[in-house]
Amino acid sequence: MSSHRTTTAANTADIQATDASHHMHPFTNTGALNRKGARVIERAEGVYLWDSEGNKIIDGMAGLWCVNMGYGRKELVEAAHQQMQTLPYYNTFFQTTHTPAAELAKEIASVTPGDLNHIFFANSGSEAVDTVIRLVRQYWNIKGKPYKNILIGRENAYHGSTIGGTSLGGMSGMHKQGGPLVPNIERIRQPYWYGEAGDMSEEEFGLACAQALEEKILAVGPDNVAAFVGEPIQGAGGVIVPPANYWQEIKRICDKYDVLIAADEVICGFGRTGNWFGCQSFDFQPDLMSMAKGLSSGYLPIAAVAVGDRIANAFIEHDEDFNHGFTYSGHPVAAAVAIENIRLMKEENIVDYVANDIGPYFQTKLREMLSEHPLVGHIEGMGLVAGIALVKDKATKTLFPDDLDIGLICRDHCFENGLIMRAVGSRMVLSPPLVISHAEVDEVLEKARHCFDLTLASVD
Ligand code: PLP
Repeated sequence: MSSHRTTTAANTADIQATDASHHMHPFTNTGALNRKGARVIERAEGVYLWDSEGNKIIDGMAGLWCVNMGYGRKELVEAAHQQMQTLPYYNTFFQTTHTPAAELAKEIASVTPGDLNHIFFANSGSEAVDTVIRLVRQYWNIKGKPYKNILIGRENAYHGSTIGGTSLGGMSGMHKQGGPLVPNIERIRQPYWYGEAGDMSEEEFGLACAQALEEKILAVGPDNVAAFVGEPIQGAGGVIVPPANYWQEIKRICDKYDVLIAADEVICGFGRTGNWFGCQSFDFQPDLMSMAKGLSSGYLPIAAVAVGDRIANAFIEHDEDFNHGFTYSGHPVAAAVAIENIRLMKEENIVDYVANDIGPYFQTKLREMLSEHPLVGHIEGMGLVAGIALVKDKATKTLFPDDLDIGLICRDHCFENGLIMRAVGSRMVLSPPLVISHAEVDEVLEKARHCFDLTLASVD
C-alpha cells in the first residue's frame, strides 16, 4: 500500500549527496553541508529518534522545542486522517469558516489567561509575530493614533525569520544578513542576570532591565510606542530566565504609558514552563500572545495570535476588513490536529505533570548532576526548559574564546553519543518532550554529563 522509501546505512550517502545538491537548509552553513552531509533522521517514537544508520537518539529538544506530546501519537495521526477525508482544505478568508477553525479558536480561548478570547491563525511562529506587528499598528491606527507605531523588543530575543520577526528579534547574526530591517522597531537590553549583571543582585538587575524600557519609551516619546514584545523566557537566545520581578515592572511601565504587551509564547506556550502559558508563570497579563510549536506538538504547521477584548473590539467597532491573512490560516487538517493535541494535553494532565512532577524532578536532578561540573558556570530553567552556561573558569565566569566554539564541540559530542542537545553560543539548552518519564530524564542527564566530560577532555 504505502510506497515510501526507507533510508538505510547503505544509501545514507546517496541521500546526503542529493540533499547537499538540492536542499537549502535553514540556519545551516551550506559549505559545511557539502563537506559533511546532513544527519538523516528516519523515524521517531515517544522521546526517541532513529537515524538512517540505526542510531537511537534521545531527543532533549522535542524537535525544535515543539513535539510536546512526544512522537508517534496515533490520536494525532487519526485526527489528521479523518479531517483529510472530510475537508482537506478550505480557506477562512471573506467571511468563511469551518468547524475545525471555529472549534480550535474556542479551545485556545479556553486555555489562554484573561480576556484573550479572539484567535487569528497563521502557519508559523514567524507569521504569528508578523501578525502581531500589523495588528498592534492597525489597532492604534483605528484609535486615531497612527503615530503610535514603534515596537520595542530586546537584544538576543528570537521572534522568527520573516523580515518582521527578524527585525523585532535581537539576533545580531540575523540582522547582518538580508536587510534592511523593518523601520520603527527599537530594542532594549535582555534580562540575562548571570551573564550581564556584574555585581547587581537578581532583584536590582530585574528592575534595571525593566526600567530600560521606561527609558526607551521616554526617549522615543510615549505617544509613539505601540507595544513591547517579549518571550516570557527567551528560548532561542539560550534559555534566559528573567529575574522574578522583571515582568511585573515591565507590566507597570506599559500600563503607565499605555503601551500594549505582546507575549511571544511560541516556545513557552502549551505547558513548557508548568503553566499553559509562560506569562502565567511570571504572573502578568499580556494584551496579545503569539503561539505555535506546542499548539500541534509540531505534527502539522499551525500558529495563532490570541487577542484580548480591548483590541478585538476595536476591530469589530471599526467595521472594516483587516487586510491580512494566509492561504492556510486555520487550515482544517492542522486545526483538527491541534484540537486533538489540546484534548490530549487536558486528558493526560500534562500541564500539571510539568508543574508538579516531571518539571521539578528535571530541574533538581539537572542541578544535582551538572552544577558541580568544571565546565558549568550556571544553570537556569523552569518546568521542562533549561539553559546551561559553559565557562572556562567558574570563579571568574570567564568564557572560552569565541573561535573555539565550545557549544558546538559539546553539541557534536551529544550527537555522537545519542543525545540531542542544542548549543546557543556557549550555552547548552534542553527542552525535552513534556511526556518524558523520570527514567528518560535520567538518561538525558547521564548522557549530558558524559558529553560534558568529553567536551572538557577535548579542550584540556
Ligand atoms: N518566536 C519565538 C519565541 C520562537 O522561539 C520562534 C521559533 O523558535 C519563532 C517565534 C518563530 O517560529 P517559526 O520558526 O515557527 O516561524
